[in-house]
Amino acid sequence: MERWVEETLHRGFRVRLKADRVLFDSETEHQHLVIFENEDFGRVMMLDHVVQLATKDDFIYHEMMAHVPLFAHGRAKKALIIGGGDGGVLREALKHPELEDITLCEIDRSVLTLCREHFPDISAGAYDDPRTRIVIADGTKFVAETDDRFDLIMVDSTDPIGPGAVLFTKEFYTGCRRCLKPGGILVTQNGLPFLQADELKQSVGFFRGLFRDAFAYLATTPSYFGGPMSYGWATDYVEARRYRIDAIERRYADAGAFPTRYWRPDVHVASFALPNYIRELVE
Ligand code: SAM
Repeated sequence: MERWVEETLHRGFRVRLKADRVLFDSETEHQHLVIFENEDFGRVMMLDHVVQLATKDDFIYHEMMAHVPLFAHGRAKKALIIGGGDGGVLREALKHPELEDITLCEIDRSVLTLCREHFPDISAGAYDDPRTRIVIADGTKFVAETDDRFDLIMVDSTDPIGPGAVLFTKEFYTGCRRCLKPGGILVTQNGLPFLQADELKQSVGFFRGLFRDAFAYLATTPSYFGGPMSYGWATDYVEARRYRIDAIERRYADAGAFPTRYWRPDVHVASFALPNYIRELVE
């Protein structure tokens, strides 16, 4: 009997993906987790009925969450990933030789265990890199209590449902502000502006009360259905998102010009060009 897995994130819009083979389908300590094979998107992971990861297009989201802030900052040594249990953002961030250590704070141990088993190419050894430190904790608690200070915080979270809801609050962003070094950058998974406009508007509104520069950048990942995905941007380093292509090209060359499939210096700069319907949410 054919099985279809339905995404139920949006009120008036649903998507179903054919599950050619189900590898896992159960409740973890924090959320409902399904892993299945789909002929168009590859191996897919869903949490609480929302697509998190698809092996055929993960490179887009993971490259853009890591390389845009890292090349904009230019001299990040310590980074923090909140969420990101699949290891994709961690894999991309570790390609930057200047990074000395990365802490990954993931609330759900089962995500790490199951992604290590079923998505080995996503993390590609990143969990075991000597620069990686994994913490199993709620991100809100971690940023409120850690003594560490970071040049970059990447919030690779689920949507504001279930355990992810707290990662879209002023309290959490205040905690991120607390543990960012001077000139540090915060980037956040901030949903699809066409379908989740209020989410982006609210996050950037909170950023504006905490940082000198609050903005967003975009990339379109096909398995995040509903148009471009926004990344929230918050920093006191106001020049960071304004570097021209030649400056980013120099930084990319200095980092060893490692191969990418989506991020590139011109795409980096262009990602901050927001169409009016999105710009009006962040200005
Ligand atoms: N790239 C995906 C997206 O854009 O929706 C996110 C993928 S990643 C799997 C999301 C991770 O955030 C999950 O592993 C989830 O367990 C984790 N997470 C959710 N709430 C969290 C919290 N409060 N603290 C830390 N991690 C959390």
